[in-house]
Amino acid sequence: MYLTDAVGILIFVDLSMTPEEMRRTGYAVVDRMVAWMAEPGPVIRRATPQAMADLLPGDEPKAPLGLDAVLGTLVDDVYPHASRVAHPGYFAYIPGSTTWPAALVDFMSSVANVYAGSWAESAGPSRLELVVLDWFRAWLGLPEGAEGVLTSGGSAANLMAFAVAREQLLGAMHADAMIYCSDQAHSSVGRAARVLGFRSDQVHVIPSDDGFRLRVDALAAAVAADRVAGRVPLLVSASGGATNTGAVDPLDDIADLCAEHDLWLHVDAAYGGFATVTARGARALAGIGRADSVTLDPHKWFFQPMECGALLVRESGALERAFTVLPDYLADSATHGGEVNFSDRGLQLTRRARSVSLWASVATFGTDAFRAAIDSGLDLAALASTLVDDDPHLELLSAARLGIVCFRRTLPGLGEPELAAANAWLAAALEATGRAMVSSTRLHGRYALRLCVLNHRSREEDVRFVLDFLARTPVPPEVLAAAVPDAAVPAGPLLDLLDEAGRRELARCSTRLVAPAGATVVSRWAGDRDFYAIVSGAVRVLIDGVVVRRLGPGEFFGEIAATDWGSGYGYVRTADVVAEEPTQLIVVPAEDLLRLMDVAPALRERILAARASRLGTL
Ligand SMILES: *Cc1c(COP(=O)(O)O)cnc(C)c1O
Repeated sequence: MYLTDAVGILIFVDLSMTPEEMRRTGYAVVDRMVAWMAEPGPVIRRATPQAMADLLPGDEPKAPLGLDAVLGTLVDDVYPHASRVAHPGYFAYIPGSTTWPAALVDFMSSVANVYAGSWAESAGPSRLELVVLDWFRAWLGLPEGAEGVLTSGGSAANLMAFAVAREQLLGAMHADAMIYCSDQAHSSVGRAARVLGFRSDQVHVIPSDDGFRLRVDALAAAVAADRVAGRVPLLVSASGGATNTGAVDPLDDIADLCAEHDLWLHVDAAYGGFATVTARGARALAGIGRADSVTLDPHKWFFQPMECGALLVRESGALERAFTVLPDYLADSATHGGEVNFSDRGLQLTRRARSVSLWASVATFGTDAFRAAIDSGLDLAALASTLVDDDPHLELLSAARLGIVCFRRTLPGLGEPELAAANAWLAAALEATGRAMVSSTRLHGRYALRLCVLNHRSREEDVRFVLDFLARTPVPPEVLAAAVPDAAVPAGPLLDLLDEAGRRELARCSTRLVAPAGATVVSRWAGDRDFYAIVSGAVRVLIDGVVVRRLGPGEFFGEIAATDWGSGYGYVRTADVVAEEPTQLIVVPAEDLLRLMDVAPALRERILAARASRLGTL
């Protein structure tokens, strides 16, 4: 409640507002947001930290500004400087388009400030959480009795899934427990492992195949090698729609392998999982119902406001076993027959009532409308794929899968660095139109533009505009001239790429090794991560007993495992390396190599180039 003093200055006497003020400002906000939905863009407006500091100085507002002034600042200076992930032309990263009912009900839940942690305090929202989770369960094809919990997002769900798997299969952390995923796994998989205390040699990253899917033969071999070495294979985190390309790992084959070896199968279907409500999506994700746990993100392809993720777990009671802690001060909230305390199924005690807006938005439109919206995304991605394929100026790098297409502009006679520069320039030029936006990625080392259609408001004309722009906009010659060609990485022995300080550092952190003729220096599927440079002698690199290359003085190996895949983790060894003759080696631990690469850009370029080309020949 506020007063105005004699000269008309606002003075709040407490933190409440009168009903009239609440109505007036509430209606104004609704009007504003309805108008905002109809504004054409721009799809993103970037700003430097300095520009933002000038606009939003950050002095502590001791005296009241009043809600009207504050709303003005938000509308003029805050929201315009955020990407409009719900814009129909937003095809970058993961678009997030929500619905009006979900947003309104989120507002209602904020006003009521619903606490969704315990049944005793939240029977209504808890009932709806059970309801929506059971829809998800049925869509995924998990058996009755599978349970779940809504989370802040996919990252939290992946972390929780790994914690549940470990508690179920091992209990406390085990020094030799192993996690497996493909190189296309989401970065949150690495982060979850790191947070849970898995060391860098406890996550085996497996190369993906030509279709960016986990190689099951490689997985089987890595698991077998780990068992022989006395390690404890724990879980496989498979992709149910990889963020790069939409690729779905061969879930049925992986499920067979997991069943055979008593491994936990987690499927990270954060963005792609809701495609199971459509016939096409269910086919693409066949086998997902065999998972022990599945991550979903309703705030991606199920049109919910951020932050709404979900974790589903096959075995009843497993979530509670992993997470329940009942202190005296919560004893009153202990459950009785059929009641669920959702705070016992995850990390959060105090939780938003995510279930309410989720249920309300789905119930408003009906599930068929949601199904049609997801189908439309699949249609538009398929259309984009066809248009790219038919256009001589565009090259398809990964055909439409679960709403994602990767491609790039082709320009005759250019190498990878020039193509990357040209395509990055085109993406920026597209963004500058204000009408649409795509993001970029690298697919097995090749620069790719990535178009992701998940928005229920995106239309055919939006997709056509993007492809037409990218295929036909001329690329200025100076963009290509500025690209650093591959040849800029000097040839010659690797260690010549270090300066004096670099060499001293190398001497400090490395050791010398002489491998006798015939000795195996690196074994395929092993989890060690040292990097080797050859001083004298020669080695053979073998895959399945076949020599794929010979390396001599000045050359190196082990970079695939030693370099960072994400969160400090690296690939499992992808080949055997055997000394052909007595061979002198410099051995550098992975952490030290990463540090050296940070201070020596030429070394870094050379090693990453070798990694990209060697990964391409596995
Ligand atoms: C987005 C995404 C995540 C992370 O989810 P957040 O909700 O952003 O935390 C994990 N895995 C995949 C496949 C994703 O697409």
